[in-house]
Amino acid sequence: MSEQISVGGTTVDTRHWIGGRRVASAATFTDVSPIDGAVLGEISRGGAEEAGAAVAAAAAAFPAWAATPRERRAAVLRAIADGVDKRLEELAIVETLDNGALLRSHRRGVMPRVAHNFRFFAERLEGLGHDDFDTRGHTNHVSWDPAGPCALITPWNAPLMLATWKVAPALAAGNTVVLKPAEWSPLTASLLAGIAADAGLPPGVLNVVQGYGAEAGAALAGHPGVRRISFTGSVPTARHIAAAAAPNLTPLSLELGGKSPLLVFEDADLDLAVDLAAEQYDNAGQVCLAATRLLVHAPIAAEFTRRLTERAEALVQGDPRDEATGIGPQIHPRQLEKIDGFVRRAVADGARVLAGGGPNTALGGLYYRPTLLTDVRQDSEIVQEEVFGPVLTLQTFDTEEQAVTLANDTRFGLAATVATGDRARAERVTARLVAGTVWVNCFFVRDLRAPFGGSRESGVGREGGDWSFDFYCDLKNTVSAPGGWRD
Ligand code: NAD
Repeated sequence: MSEQISVGGTTVDTRHWIGGRRVASAATFTDVSPIDGAVLGEISRGGAEEAGAAVAAAAAAFPAWAATPRERRAAVLRAIADGVDKRLEELAIVETLDNGALLRSHRRGVMPRVAHNFRFFAERLEGLGHDDFDTRGHTNHVSWDPAGPCALITPWNAPLMLATWKVAPALAAGNTVVLKPAEWSPLTASLLAGIAADAGLPPGVLNVVQGYGAEAGAALAGHPGVRRISFTGSVPTARHIAAAAAPNLTPLSLELGGKSPLLVFEDADLDLAVDLAAEQYDNAGQVCLAATRLLVHAPIAAEFTRRLTERAEALVQGDPRDEATGIGPQIHPRQLEKIDGFVRRAVADGARVLAGGGPNTALGGLYYRPTLLTDVRQDSEIVQEEVFGPVLTLQTFDTEEQAVTLANDTRFGLAATVATGDRARAERVTARLVAGTVWVNCFFVRDLRAPFGGSRESGVGREGGDWSFDFYCDLKNTVSAPGGWRD
């Protein structure tokens, strides 16, 4: 087995990164590109032993990193951001080969955002206040103490973006980290380990353990030395992680799935509304926030449907490295089968296919045609369950009341989008939607200062801005008597 593989011209180490060293496992798993099924390499497959070694390394590195002055920690984070910028093209290509998302969006949107994650939390750390106040002459001093080793478990749909969204605040806060990337897209985490080491991050502060969720992930989730678990992924996995964390009462942050609605009112700008709907096919529908339930006001439904159907049919599907491509492959054969299963069952249940409806047979492989379904029942599987593919359902409504009721009628509450030209309506409707993020006449605008997370089964807790520090820190109040050392 080769420990160094070449992926799109970039050398990637296939071993774990533990305590500042590359560590191989005897067992491996095969990493395959979703673009064409090419084998990218054999990756070290960690389990309880590697997870334990990584937590031990993180625990050993913790006291010194926690005691490192904020300015120094911030400087290292900025140096990591510079390293990401320097290797942006390599990261973009490796990520595209590994998870099949569009190269142009990795280049222009995702990887710059990865660097921004580090710069943002470096700056936020420097500005993090200390709240001091008096109680009858006693001083209360509230401090943000780092919590300890954190286990960060991440999915494959935006691997490095979602990993660094956790790694950056965890490190900024003074914690040490064990990152477990998804087994379908492990490569950019390995590159990040190298970039962080080059940027001066001390050994053991960031560790990367690769492997399957049920092995490496479960071992981390149940490890008593882990002080925080931040997980992004699916609801069933979140339940496993919560159960594994329960004996240790490890605090959890869970960012999970969704079945978000796009509400299109008759007073909306129709061009914009169709654009917003078509945007939901981005990343081949593998976006947790995707508004996959289109709820359209009856008077404009026919025109909206006609235009969106045209747009879906016209989307250019193909190799995600091509500039002209609008939609690439799904990540894995299992996902393709899962998506197709959802669509077939929906059709058997009476759904009508307006666009797509199956794999792209001309392309073969993992390409699924952008699909639009209508005549779907609110209580049907296709309306209630997350498909995580390029499949939208279209339902109509007659009244605002009905629109809000339909929008809120799932187990999820991650996001919602409202298209309307009426400000008062926007205010009424957004106030009633159950969702962590609501967009009005826009989609996917995300500011790192904002709280991010989901309601109901879409998640537990919020990250972003100081909410990330709330999660990754142990807040401590120190009360000093008058005349004590603080006076
Ligand atoms: P997944 O739950 O299958 O896997 C996510 C991670 O958990 C992987 O690293 C996996 O190896 C690990 N894992 C699996 N079983 C585990 C276990 N028993 N113990 C510990 N770790 C385990 O999710 P996925 O298929 O990789 O990602 C898709 C899901 O993620 C979708 O539901 C999507 O909506 C969600 N998601 C949510 C957000 C958000 O911010 N809310 C963002 C992106 C994706």
